[in-house]
Amino acid sequence: MNSAKIQYKGLFFCSILGVFLSIHQGCAYKKTNAPDLLLDNQQIVTEVNQEAKRYDCDILVITCIDYRFAVANQEFINETLGLRDNYDHISIPGSILNLVNPETSELVFSKFALSVRLHLIKRVVVISHKDCGGYGGSVSFGSELAEHETLCADLRKARSLLLEKYPTLEVDLFLESLIPEGDQAKVYFEKIQ
Ligand SMILES: [Zn+2]
Repeated sequence: MNSAKIQYKGLFFCSILGVFLSIHQGCAYKKTNAPDLLLDNQQIVTEVNQEAKRYDCDILVITCIDYRFAVANQEFINETLGLRDNYDHISIPGSILNLVNPETSELVFSKFALSVRLHLIKRVVVISHKDCGGYGGSVSFGSELAEHETLCADLRKARSLLLEKYPTLEVDLFLESLIPEGDQAKVYFEKIQ
């Protein structure tokens, strides 16, 4: 195991608690000076859809923690897939890498179990991405083709593992890529069969 993978494995174990507290790590870009909204114990109010008041939802979405994809993921999940107010969202460093890794998969599955059991999940959407730090980035694959094939194979393996545990689940797989276009960058989603 190379040092990047060892570091990442360490990050996984240290982060797993933070993940479920929705702490996103590693974002060094555009650090903001957020206003101190909780000054003097001020209460912050956010309106939610009436649908969000139920105690179950149909779908569990699994993504990597990578901040570069966070906004695109939300738009894709809410608007493109039309899942707004109807999904649990679990972010895992390296996403499927830790799901298919025998050393970490049980820990990851133990977190899924609560969602599947408590919220009566019927469908899982797994989104993996290229240039993932969990794999050592795109460079570690040697070629674009090798990266694509490895990530697709891991996605399919993740689906098999999910179906082994929960045979009635519907599992959708997506692979996303961050592509520079001029001064901008766009995130492309590919459905994997
Ligand atoms: Zn990643």
